[in-house]
Formats: sequence, C-alpha cells, structure tokens
Amino acid sequence: MNLFPENQLLIATHNTGKLEEFKYLLKDLNLKILSSKDLNLDEPNETENSFIGNARIKSKISCLQSNLPSLADDSGLQVHALGNKPGVYTADWAFTDKGRDFKKAMHRVWNELIETKQQEPFSANFICTLVLTFPNGNEEIFEGIVNGIITWPMRGRDGHGYDPIFVPDGHKKTFGEMTNFEKNKISHRSIALKKFISFYMDRIN
Ligand code: IMP
Repeated sequence: MNLFPENQLLIATHNTGKLEEFKYLLKDLNLKILSSKDLNLDEPNETENSFIGNARIKSKISCLQSNLPSLADDSGLQVHALGNKPGVYTADWAFTDKGRDFKKAMHRVWNELIETKQQEPFSANFICTLVLTFPNGNEEIFEGIVNGIITWPMRGRDGHGYDPIFVPDGHKKTFGEMTNFEKNKISHRSIALKKFISFYMDRIN
C-alpha cells in the first residue's frame, strides 16, 4: 500500500524559514511538498509540555484538515545547568510586545547561567522532534539531537533563534557562524529528517 498517495507530503508549518529548510533537506526525494500555510489550514496553539506533544498537535490537525500525511516538528534548546530550560519554551523566551527578540532570549540564557555560579563549559543541546500522522491515524516519531556548549558573547548571524550562542561538539564555530550547508549537515533537524527519509525510502522500495 502506498502510504504517500500521489507522493504528497504536507509539512505542518506556517513558518516559511522552517518550510524552506524542510524543502532543502527533502529535495532528493520524489515528494511533492505542501504546507499548512499553502492550504490555509489552522495554526493551533502549542499547549503541551513536551516536544512530542506539541509536534503531535500540529501534525494531527493538519492531517485531519488536509487528509494528507502530515509532518510537524517541535524544536528547542535545552541547557543542562538550567535544568534543560528553555526547552519547550524556547520560542516563548524571545516573546516581546513587538514580536520575537532572540537577542533578549540569548541574554536571558547567559544571565541565568551566570546566576547558577557554575563553571564553564555549559553543556546544552538542540532537539528536534518530528511527528508524522497518516490519515488512517497511524503515527511515526523521529528525533534528532545535537550536543554542544553555550558560548558568550554571541558570534555570527542572529538570523535563526539561538544560533549565535551554540557551538556544536567537535566544532569551533557557532551555528550562527556556519553556512546553511555546514549547519544542515549536523543539525538536530537534519538528523531527525534523515530518520524520516530512511523510513520513507523503506516504504517505497
Ligand atoms: P518551534 O519548534 O517553532 O516551537 O520553535 C522552537 C524554537 O527553538 C524557536 O524559537 C527557534 O528559534 C529555536 N530553535 C530551533 N532550532 C533552532 C536552531 O537550529 N537554531 C537556533 N534556534 C533554534
């Protein structure tokens, strides 16, 4: 049975940056990628306290509304000396009245680390959880984690979230200093997506 009728996959996101990253990482597959934004689907609130829970909310509602296999991600930064905060609240730490401010969020991470009075290195990880929901209700979960340390001051582009303060293990550059190509080879999202790709290839061959 073909799990992906007409080779269609819906990416359950309204975030164009995220969608571009998914399209790039899935470009070698024979898949027609659509998004919840393209189809004008609902953007649900992320009310769960786990990455899987929040990814499941997004994946399920998009699948229900589109009747297509739907893949959603939830991701975040876990800083060990902060008890894995900001975790599922990673995006919320950047919240201001005027929109998201990731410089403010990165200052908060660093200030809270200083307050712990612990010594560097401050280990951390980025995590990405993908939930794939099929119209028959079946679900698959894929997870990617990249370990590293928090560094200060910020280095590199402040384009994507907390990139300028995260140095992945085995590297000297922060994610913010890496090209998209360098980052995509090792990122949590690409690790999780490689697991999805392997699932997909096994099902179509
Ligand atoms: P969500 O998955 O859309 O709920 O948001 C996850 C949060 O984690 C966002 O605020 C992102 O900026 C942050 N985040 C996720 N992945 C990365 C990354 O690769 N670099 C920097 N920040 C990230």
